[in-house]
Formats: sequence, C-alpha cells, structure tokens
Amino acid sequence: MLKEFTIDTPREGFIDITSQVSAIVRQNPGEAGFCQVFIPHTTAGITINENADPDVVEDMLVALDHMVPKLAYKHSEGNSRAHVKASMIGSSVSVPVIDKGLHLGIWQGIYFCEFDGPRRRKICVNTK
Ligand code: ZN
Repeated sequence: MLKEFTIDTPREGFIDITSQVSAIVRQNPGEAGFCQVFIPHTTAGITINENADPDVVEDMLVALDHMVPKLAYKHSEGNSRAHVKASMIGSSVSVPVIDKGLHLGIWQGIYFCEFDGPRRRKICVNTK
C-alpha cells in the first residue's frame, strides 16, 4: 500500500522522519518484507544514519558543503549545489519490516535531507 505525508522544511538540514514512517507501517501492515520510502524531489534526499548524537547529521552537512563547492554553475535557479547533493544522497531507502515494525539498527533513523528549503515536501511510503 502506498501512502504519502508532507513536511514543511524551515531551511537546509536533516529532519528525522522515522516516527512518521513507523506510524504508517504500523497502520498499514503488509506482508513481511521491506518498506520502501521515496521522495519525489530534486533538491532533497533521504538517508539512514545515526539518530543518537545530533552532531552526526550536522557534520554530514559540513562534509557535503565541502564536497560540493560554490562554483559558477549554469543552472539559472541558483540552487545547483542542492541538486548535486540530492543526487549524492539519493531519493529512496528500504527498511526491513518485521512484526509490523521497522527493523532499523539501534542507532539508525530515517532522515529527510533538505538542501534547498524552506519547502513543503512529500514523502511516499510503500508498505506492500
Ligand atoms: Zn533548481
């Protein structure tokens, strides 16, 4: 079953969406397997990383800024760095589902990665 929810991002940054995805999986249990989470955006990404120390995602932003320098990009909208970071991170993740719950590692959370906010963003969750 495909479900969607939206979030309003205030600025560039990582937003933990684990609880929203977990709630959808609990309310729409499918067969045992994988939950796929997809975002239909070109200046945002989705990833799984540590949710214990908030400095980790801040450091990821620092590293991505370093890897994607400010250059004379051609794209007239002025947000080419956001497009590049979005492709580096990717637009979907898959998480195993066991007993109607996400089977994440103890330190793992699902993060929406905003590279261009503020924006209203959509997240698609397929629970099968
Ligand atoms: Zn653009």
